[in-house]
Amino acid sequence: MRIILICIDLLQITRIFISVSGVYQLATKMKGRVLGELSKRAFLKTGIAACGALATPGLGIASGAEALSVVATTGMIADAAREIGGSRVDVRALMGPGVDPHGYRQTRSDIVAMARADLVLWHGLGLEAQMEGFFRDLGKTRAVVAVADALDTERLIAHPTYEGRMDPHVWMDPTIWAGVLGHVRAALIEADPEGSEAFEKNAAAYRTKIESLDAYSETILSSVSPERRVLVTAHDAFGYFGTRHDFEVLGIQGISTESEAGLNRIAELVDVLVERKISAVFVETSVSDRNIRALIEGAAAQGHKVEIGGALFSDAMGHEGTYEGTYLGMIDHNVTTIAAALGADVPYRGMQGQLAGEG
Ligand SMILES: [Zn+2]
Repeated sequence: MRIILICIDLLQITRIFISVSGVYQLATKMKGRVLGELSKRAFLKTGIAACGALATPGLGIASGAEALSVVATTGMIADAAREIGGSRVDVRALMGPGVDPHGYRQTRSDIVAMARADLVLWHGLGLEAQMEGFFRDLGKTRAVVAVADALDTERLIAHPTYEGRMDPHVWMDPTIWAGVLGHVRAALIEADPEGSEAFEKNAAAYRTKIESLDAYSETILSSVSPERRVLVTAHDAFGYFGTRHDFEVLGIQGISTESEAGLNRIAELVDVLVERKISAVFVETSVSDRNIRALIEGAAAQGHKVEIGGALFSDAMGHEGTYEGTYLGMIDHNVTTIAAALGADVPYRGMQGQLAGEG
C-alpha cells in the first residue's frame, strides 16, 4: 500500500513539475541520463507504467480518514487554517518567519508538499507575485483557493501605481481579516464537509478573539496623540492599519518590496522626519533594515535624532511555537510596539500579557 501511495505522489508531483512552469529540465535532471532524450509525455507515461494502472488522472487524496492536509503560503493564512480546522487539519506554512512573500518562489519541497496536500490556500491580491502562474496551473488539478481574492473590494485600498489592483496587506486590519477567515472556513468545508460543524464553531470562537484584538488595538492606538500618529516603515504594508486607526503611514518602498526605493524617496522622507519632528521609525522582520538606517542617518546629518521604535511583523509572523508566531500575537506585538514607541501607555506585555516584552 505504501508503495502505491508513493507512486501516486510521484505521478502528481511529476505532472505538476511538467505542467506548471516548464521545469522539464528539472524532471530530466532528477532521473538523470536515462530520461535525457524522452519527451514530456513519454516521461509521464513512463511514470504511469512504472506505477501500474493506479494513476487515475486527477486522483487527489491518497490518504485515508486522516487529518486534512493543508498547505498555506503565509503564516497568517496557516494560522487561520489551524484555528478554524482544529484537530481535523494538518497545516504547513510555506513561508516562515522573516520570509518576504512578494519575492518568494516555490521550492522543490514546496511543490512536493502542495502536490500531496488536500487543500492549498494562498493569499492572492498580488501578494505572492512570483507564484501566481504556478497557482493558476495547480488549480486545474488540485483544490487551490486564493483566500483574499474573494474579499469585497469596497474596503480594499487601491494600489497606487497599478490600476485595478489592490493593496494585499489586508491582515493589518483585523476587521477585514475576519472576511478572509470566512473564505478559509468555506474552503475547509468544501474539502471536508463532515467537519463543517466543527469548522463553524471554531471560526465563531476565533472571530471573537479577533474582535477583542481589534478593540484592544483601537484603545491603545487612540491614546497616541494625534500629531504623533505617523508610522514610518520600510515598505507600504501598513495602509490598512493606517485607515483603521487613523494613522498616516509612510513606507520607503512601495506596496511590494520588489520595487527599489529611490534615493529621492529617502531624501523626501528624511525631510518629513526633520520638519515634523518624528522621533521613531520602524523596521520590519521580513524586510532589510538598510533603508530605515539610511533614514536615521539622513536625519542625524540634519541634527534630528530618530530612533528605531521596534521591529514590526509586516508580511510574516514570529517564530512558530511563540505567541508572536500567531496572528493574534503578531498584531498585538505590532500595535503595542507602535503605541509604546509613539509615547502611549501600554499594558505590560500587551493585550494578554503574553508578548516576549523585549525592551
Ligand atoms: Zn508587503
